[in-house]
Amino acid sequence: MSIVIEDAVKKYGRGESEIYALNHVSLQIESGEVCVILGPSGSGKSTLLHMIGGLDQLDSGSVTVDGTKITELGKKALTEYRREKAGVVFQSYNLIAELNVKENIRVVADISKDPLDLDTLIAELGLSRHATHFPAELSGGQQQRCAIGRALVKNPDILLCDEPTGALDSVSAGEVLEILEKINEKYHTTILIITHNENMAGMADRIIRVHDGKIVSNEKNKKVRVKE
Ligand code: ADP
Ligand code: ADP
Repeated sequence: MSIVIEDAVKKYGRGESEIYALNHVSLQIESGEVCVILGPSGSGKSTLLHMIGGLDQLDSGSVTVDGTKITELGKKALTEYRREKAGVVFQSYNLIAELNVKENIRVVADISKDPLDLDTLIAELGLSRHATHFPAELSGGQQQRCAIGRALVKNPDILLCDEPTGALDSVSAGEVLEILEKINEKYHTTILIITHNENMAGMADRIIRVHDGKIVSNEKNKKVRVKE
């Protein structure tokens, strides 16, 4: 799914404390791209991701996904967009503690129109041996892979990841990135990854740099694969 953002403005606060989280942002992401969004803390990365995910509202401007202006959708259509088209992964895994890996993913599959096969997905996530384990029994990397499974099982067109490896050691982080690449290759999911880790840019088709609510650069990237 292509993503087009036109003149997006999002302000927080009032009067002297007013800040532009997004200050007239325009950008285009092509269908099937892996896009890494880099920028310091507070630069507007999460706000940008939330807008694309239909999780928050702009003050002005528009977000168009695959030809549909999601900023003009009504409540019902927006809920459907979030449920069917956009998957979101956060740094804090947001798993349900009382459910095991497979159950965590199944509850999302159960409300999806055309879910992926659970066992195949769990195998792709490298979690087959952990399918009946509960979140507290998993390493951080395994928990994040389960969270990615929850976002992916609905077979979304866009996968939005907010600092997906922020809480992980470098080995687990590498495993998570490898899975995201595999998913992109197999399902052609458009993937956006927020990070402030420059090292993650190597896997990207596109690198977008954000600063003070503005896009400071947006470049196609020649993929450099770094072997361990
Ligand atoms: P990043 O993801 O790059 O760290 P954010 O998009 O989270 O940046 O935030 C951009 C700016 O907007 C920051 O100055 C932040 O403090 C502010 N901001 C974000 N969300 C809110 C909110 N709900 N209320 C007030 N200010 C917010
Ligand atoms: P991986 O093998 O995926 O790299 P780790 O080396 O981090 O994962 O963990 C090794 C094993 O220890 C895993 O199978 C995991 O289920 C288990 N494990 C990790 N953390 C905990 C924990 N806090 N409680 C119980 N089991 C854990």
